[in-house]
Amino acid sequence: MVYAAGSGVSDEVSAAPLPWDGQAYSVKRFGTTITNCDSEPVQTPGCIQGHGALLVLRADDLTIAQVSDNSGVLLGHSPESLLDQPVARVLGDAPAAVLRAFLTREPVERNPLYVLTHPGRDGAALDVTVHTIDGGVIVEFEATAHSAADGPDYFSLIKQSVHRLQGASSLQALGDTATAEIRALTGLDRVMVYKFHDDGHGEVVAENRRPDLSTWLGMHYPAQDIPEPAREVFRRTWIRPMREIGAPISELVPLAHPDTGRPLTMTHCALRGTSVMHTEYLQNMGVAASLTLSIRRGDQLWGLIACHHYTGAFDLPYNMRAACELIAQIVSLQHKASEDRDYLSRQLRFDEVRQLLVTQAAYDGGLSAMVTGPLTLLDAMDAHGAALFHQDRWWRVGETPPESDLERIADWLGERPEFASSAQPVFVTDALGTLLPGSPELDAVACGLLALTLSHRGQNLILWFRPESLRTVDWGGNPQDKPMVLGPNGPRVTPRRSFELFSDSVRGRSMPWQQWEIELALRFRLVVMELVISRAEQLTELNTDLARSNDELDAFAYVASHDLKEPLRGIHKYAHQLTVSAAYADPQNAQRLDSLTRLTLRMDSLLDSLLHFSRVGRVTLELEDVDLDELVHEALEMVGSRRSERPNEVVMATNLPHLRADRVRLREVFVNLLSNAFKYNDKPTVHIEIGWHPPHTVTRQPHWPADTTHHPIFYVRDNGIGIEARHAEQVYKMFKRLHGRDEYGGGTGAGLTIVRKLIERHGGAVWFDSEPGVGSTFYISLGLS
Ligand code: ADP
Repeated sequence: MVYAAGSGVSDEVSAAPLPWDGQAYSVKRFGTTITNCDSEPVQTPGCIQGHGALLVLRADDLTIAQVSDNSGVLLGHSPESLLDQPVARVLGDAPAAVLRAFLTREPVERNPLYVLTHPGRDGAALDVTVHTIDGGVIVEFEATAHSAADGPDYFSLIKQSVHRLQGASSLQALGDTATAEIRALTGLDRVMVYKFHDDGHGEVVAENRRPDLSTWLGMHYPAQDIPEPAREVFRRTWIRPMREIGAPISELVPLAHPDTGRPLTMTHCALRGTSVMHTEYLQNMGVAASLTLSIRRGDQLWGLIACHHYTGAFDLPYNMRAACELIAQIVSLQHKASEDRDYLSRQLRFDEVRQLLVTQAAYDGGLSAMVTGPLTLLDAMDAHGAALFHQDRWWRVGETPPESDLERIADWLGERPEFASSAQPVFVTDALGTLLPGSPELDAVACGLLALTLSHRGQNLILWFRPESLRTVDWGGNPQDKPMVLGPNGPRVTPRRSFELFSDSVRGRSMPWQQWEIELALRFRLVVMELVISRAEQLTELNTDLARSNDELDAFAYVASHDLKEPLRGIHKYAHQLTVSAAYADPQNAQRLDSLTRLTLRMDSLLDSLLHFSRVGRVTLELEDVDLDELVHEALEMVGSRRSERPNEVVMATNLPHLRADRVRLREVFVNLLSNAFKYNDKPTVHIEIGWHPPHTVTRQPHWPADTTHHPIFYVRDNGIGIEARHAEQVYKMFKRLHGRDEYGGGTGAGLTIVRKLIERHGGAVWFDSEPGVGSTFYISLGLS
């Protein structure tokens, strides 16, 4: 809407050879042959707007190398009579001397400055500006009703404008003030701030207009309305005046510089000629004159201040332009400062929340506190839902997809190598539904996703979600509209003719994630990672301490049980002898001595268990390939005596695998589990089943240990008395029995303690499901498989 239309059409129009190839371009001669705006040399149009004249001087002697073909009309000298002549031929000797002195004194490189006012042919004042580029001197003569020499005092006017701009408290206020100031200063019909979005398309975000005009505020215009060459010009210059759209243009004579053969770079010329497409575009919009200024953020083009006039040619004299240019520069600076301020205050607010969150997590026992605590991940990001994957499970807050969808998202993220390896630890999209196939239902809550991985392989993952945001975009005309006409060089695209409101609703997109949000998320990640690492260090320290005390305990248990056995044997022997002799003397004493003998026997078996347990912790495992089928048969034989006590039925899986384990220890595990299965049973027929689940074939239950389903799981199932859930941990305690000493065949209560130790030494885990009165299933998984 501001500049030219078209572009993006090279695929539709056959690329004809450029007719000006090999020679200098002239918009006047070749302008209608342009089929693709992105290939138009807008900085070297070879022509100027016809209300002014232009001279190109040689820097060393100020002789005229090129001149616009209207010099006869405006300057009173035909082009032929001026070429190779000194500039004094046009200006007169004294002004030529002024120009020479000006050139040595002022910073004119790529910076046009007013130098003097020249009386034109019919006495009209011509403002003369000069600048240098590529070693040449460009002198522009502009006819104007308000010469810089005697026009209004723009600089005192702009002083007030600057003051008001500085008072603008927000970005919007800055845009509103800038448009009002420029309109007041120039008298143009419509002044707009036009912002470029990330995809290049533009939106009118502020406007000041003649009251009878309808508003364009909030209108969107496709990216190709301002083709890349035009954007490039606005990265280099602040201002682009066009006094009269469609007015005659004048060509340079000669078209290329006679000394270098190069076309003239007119990037900084106020008189620079306009492309045919751009002229048509503005005419289609009803624009008669225009002034465009750039708004930059650093070296980026943030947007434009676009000014239109609809009622005929509009004089844009030098001083007025200079004042507007100054406003554009102030707006750019203020804008950056304002945006930075905005960003900083949001950053501070969120940083504070994040810091609190991490502190909360540090004190409240881990990352999950960021979802379950009083402050949550939702306070740390502008999102509707958040999910944390940590310790092998999901923690959710706010509106999130169900866990099955979270799993899919996590798997899908895991397939992105950059993300999974943490090379790019953040991933964002505002249209997840289009990326993750077959999930349109996700849009309702998870159209926008910001994902952070906190560790390799996504073991710790944070996801923030934004729902679909149904938006209506008001386009200035149908952006798909690309009418064609037949040009001299075949069909060519012409600019849109209609700029009527065209509303388009955008589906399947969330509010986009801003760059600053991504940067904050990355910083948050660093803080959380520090926490994760420091907790891991604490754990390692604790583990080392624990391992050390375990070793010491094992050593102590060994020494104690070993050394105690000796005196116990003595006590047993003497008690036995005394029983025999005392039996004749006093029956009561005989009974006491009998108890003493039984107690020493029991103590002996307890010491045996303890000794055995301490050995289990100390011996080196001898790992080998074990045929589990064979091993379970051996174990069944070893519990044979218990088996023969009651009717029983043992079912064993036929496909038990081979695995790496310490054969003797693993057999001991099965002997213990099978023996318990027979013992703790009150049914007329004991049913026992021995089986296994290959890796990833079974769903992990909440009370099962983490990671177990990645390995084969073996189980021993019985139809026995069962174990109440509250005893889940008790059964593994040393010498802990849930029953009287001699009930259910008796025992020392060390069996499961030893089983757990043996399995843990294999890097695995033991756990059980049980229902009192119905039966129990003991599971083991060996991490070593
Ligand atoms: P114990 O030597 O007493 O058998 P364990 O350490 O093997 O010692 O078992 C501890 C306790 O766990 C037992 O006293 C029993 O109450 C309970 N228990 C173990 N296995 C089973 C099972 N299969 N069914 C019911 N209870 C069991």
